[in-house]
Amino acid sequence: MSTRHVDAVVVGAGFAGLYALHKLRQQGLDVQVFEAGSDVGGTWFWNRYPGARCDIQSVFYNYTFDDDLAREWVWSEKYASQPEILRYLQHVADRFDLRRDIALETRVTELRFDEDNSRWSVRTDAGETLEATYVVLGVGLLSSANMPDIPGRDDFAGPILHTGHWPHEPVDFTGKRVGIIGTGSSGIQTIPIVAEQAEHLTVFQRTPNFSLPAHNSAPDAEEVAALRARHPEVREQLRNSSYGILHDPPTQGALDVSDEERVATYASRWDDGTLTGILQSYNDLVRNQASNDTASEFVRSKIAEMVDDPEVAEDLVPRGYAFGTKRPCLDTGYYATYNRDNVELVSIRRTPIERITPSGVRTSAGEHPLDVLIFATGYDAMTGSLLAMEIFGRDGLSLREAWADGPSSMLGIAVAGFPNLFTITGPGSPSALSNAVISIEQHVEWVSDLLAHLRSEGLQVAEADEVAQKEWTAHVQAAGNATLYPQTDSWYMGANIPGKPRVFLPYIGGVGAYRAHCDRVADDGYPGFALS
Ligand code: NAP
Repeated sequence: MSTRHVDAVVVGAGFAGLYALHKLRQQGLDVQVFEAGSDVGGTWFWNRYPGARCDIQSVFYNYTFDDDLAREWVWSEKYASQPEILRYLQHVADRFDLRRDIALETRVTELRFDEDNSRWSVRTDAGETLEATYVVLGVGLLSSANMPDIPGRDDFAGPILHTGHWPHEPVDFTGKRVGIIGTGSSGIQTIPIVAEQAEHLTVFQRTPNFSLPAHNSAPDAEEVAALRARHPEVREQLRNSSYGILHDPPTQGALDVSDEERVATYASRWDDGTLTGILQSYNDLVRNQASNDTASEFVRSKIAEMVDDPEVAEDLVPRGYAFGTKRPCLDTGYYATYNRDNVELVSIRRTPIERITPSGVRTSAGEHPLDVLIFATGYDAMTGSLLAMEIFGRDGLSLREAWADGPSSMLGIAVAGFPNLFTITGPGSPSALSNAVISIEQHVEWVSDLLAHLRSEGLQVAEADEVAQKEWTAHVQAAGNATLYPQTDSWYMGANIPGKPRVFLPYIGGVGAYRAHCDRVADDGYPGFALS
């Protein structure tokens, strides 16, 4: 039987994969999408834990490429919940007739470049092998769940859940003793909701996080209408901003203003309830420790105010790393949850987990009896989902080997030795340090333009150049090293996964500046890429 050939295989049907399919189809390409889930949605398909919602204002957390789509869709909350975001992505799939080229419940297991015909051989867990000229990987930054290998994990008698792979049927915690490990964005969103249901909730916290109040509410209808009315202009502003959201860029350093003015600014941003508001108050908060200390101290004092028991408050207050360098969280009632009688905080820095037993979790201070255990332990970020597939480029080189010391890429889009393979929001692009939807659109459009260029020139192959890739990767690291980020153990640094190389994974140059750079590369005929 002959092998089916398509122009492009797209892996993933979340924000990235759906738009890649739409865009490449518009060019007349024959596209096949593979998606492991039983529906479209990607991250928003899998992350069904209670309280899951976006933490970028919804009005900016949607596609901008289609004026009608942008104007028609109205979010019901300032920060939409997971079911609503999933409905949006399902709507997009239907509206643009995308489903007919998406194979659901099908995982790509292997990609192998055939140098003889310059095509990718794509193997799936459904047993299919097909050939593609181009491969676009829209597998998500935060989709390969981190399930720490805590001794005794398999002995636990009750259910073990991971926030990133939450069951589809509702989970009822009524009357249950629930334990949760992890206090990142997922844990911080889950904890207040589970606390309301469970008989008792034990939170096992390794590192306290900086979390800010979301002040979630119905969106301001007038503001939304005004934004939608000038959509094309807003789109340009988002695309040329620092983070892919609208804000006034800071012009002063934190120490350039009086203490009173600074605290008033932080307080007003705290009241606004946005993820980046405080961090964007001054232009040196992620670069200058003394400046950062002012913001860190402000948030610490707010946390301490919200928690009744001073000892619990002290355990919740983050210390020893700069605000912003571990991704901050946005919450609804997180700290007040610790004032409930049925909630207990266990600092596993002070009393480490020794093992999971059939009936609970044992720390150095004793046993915590549990019926259900939730892992909110995050992801093998940015590289985990790419390396979960076996990817072999020229000369049988595997991506795993190529990235053994950390990922290197040209613009976070392409990797030398892996021709015609494109990583949407890959390591080395703004990705995790931006509104991912805006970054996804930029990558998909750039790749689509590159393929159009190849075709118009009668060429078939685009491959990152080794030297240019080295330069870009060094630039990404230098930009990171000019900030406080590398001093902190975070998933931005790969530090949450034992044995993962410690490098700064995203590019911190800003969404707009990065876009301008990519545009220049395209305008100049793609220097840094070999086109053949
Ligand atoms: P995360 O930020 O990596 O947090 C994982 C938590 O688990 C941390 O508290 C971590 O402690 C703890 N942990 C990990 N391994 C552990 C171990 N072996 N023993 C004990 N504790 C352990 O993961 P996440 O909360 O899933 O969030 C990941 C990212 O996804 C976020 O930063 C955000 O970008 C995105 N996200 C966004 C939203 C949203 O839009 N609202 C919601 C959820 C997630 P340490 O800090 O000590 O490592």
